[in-house]
Amino acid sequence: MTRKITDEQPRVRFDCGKCPAFCCSVYPRVAVTPRDIKRLAQHFGVTPDEATKRYTKMSGTSRILRRKGDPIFADVCRFLDPVTRGCTVYHARPAVCREYPGSTRCTYYDLMKFERRIQDNPNAIPLIQISFQDAPQQSETGASEDED
Ligand code: SF4
Ligand code: SF4
Repeated sequence: MTRKITDEQPRVRFDCGKCPAFCCSVYPRVAVTPRDIKRLAQHFGVTPDEATKRYTKMSGTSRILRRKGDPIFADVCRFLDPVTRGCTVYHARPAVCREYPGSTRCTYYDLMKFERRIQDNPNAIPLIQISFQDAPQQSETGASEDED
């Protein structure tokens, strides 16, 4: 049977207003395009060159937003308000932030709700850190090539 989705059903199952902003913390590289920089420059009333210097830095071949320390996470995007946990440049935020999480669910919000339930603590904040590496190559037998 095909499940029918009606307008009454919630389409978005997360609430950024009730989240400490995992997405502004766990990704150390928030990439910005020239268009993003132009938007930030207009927001702050500075030139794109000045905005580039003040708010961004290079990481490898990518230009990314600068970071700062945070009372909850190790570090966060420089534009995150440490108290309200909201974006201080919301209307001028980069495209990647506008598109995130690109789904009706947010994994980090789900994880926080899950842990609050499991820990029986409505205020618990799981301190999440992620890093990425490629999975080991699998041989034709299915065994990992770097296994003995
Ligand atoms: S982690 Fe998810 S719920 Fe939290 S602010 Fe980001 S998008 Fe919103
Ligand atoms: S620009 Fe705003 S939404 Fe994007 S990472 Fe920084 S604080 Fe978060």
